[in-house]
Amino acid sequence: MDRRTFARSLGGAAMLSGFAATSGWAQMSATAAPGRVMAIAAHPGDALFTMGATVAQQIARGGSGVFVSLSQGEKGAPKDIPVTQYGAMQRDATDKATRLLGATAMILDYRDAEIPYNEQSALRVCDLIREHKPDVVITHWSGSWHRDHRVCHEIVRDALFYADLGTLARTWPGHTVSKTYYAENWEDATNFVPDTYVDIEPVFEKWMQACDFYPMWRGQTGFFRYHDYYGSLAVMRGCLSHFKQAVALMSDENQRTRRAQSL
Ligand SMILES: [Zn+2]
Repeated sequence: MDRRTFARSLGGAAMLSGFAATSGWAQMSATAAPGRVMAIAAHPGDALFTMGATVAQQIARGGSGVFVSLSQGEKGAPKDIPVTQYGAMQRDATDKATRLLGATAMILDYRDAEIPYNEQSALRVCDLIREHKPDVVITHWSGSWHRDHRVCHEIVRDALFYADLGTLARTWPGHTVSKTYYAENWEDATNFVPDTYVDIEPVFEKWMQACDFYPMWRGQTGFFRYHDYYGSLAVMRGCLSHFKQAVALMSDENQRTRRAQSL
């Protein structure tokens, strides 16, 4: 069974605009009104590199986007740059990147590699969800070797639960997020099975420019070739989804169930 969905938008209520079976593929093209997207990541690079194109695509279609990073990712500093200076560079890159994409961004003050998984951190993210009222949330998949990524995944799942729980009194009233997706990240690859492919051709170049503000993207902090990997990944995912470039997402298991009166 093929559960892949090819989407031009993730916002609002998706409508199936076409259906055809080709070469064993169940092809669906989903369109929806552009919505508010919130990308929540452990580190700024994860937010922009793995979730940024999807956010940019929603903004380009008339939606809005907000990036939340739980830490500055400051401990990814190369040997010749002090951690505090690198944290400031990460903030500066995030400011420039999100301004280019027309999004807003916030970086919380948890220490990189030490992001706590507890009720307090989940409630903090809950409050951001209630304040910004996203239709769609994108975050890390749980199958990661990076402890901050796994922690972020769990924090966001708890935060979505708390945000939805209207009887839980907080500053802002309860808010239900319609859809939750997990981003494709080279560090979160264990058991990642994408099912939703988003067309990012209209924003591909702009998203690449936004990522280029980060020293990490340009290979200045370590061995991994972020620019080459994520640029090529978008092309590869585009090949599979019949778009020029695409982002592949994994939907939360709770939203994979469909109600139908007929097949
Ligand atoms: Zn990370």
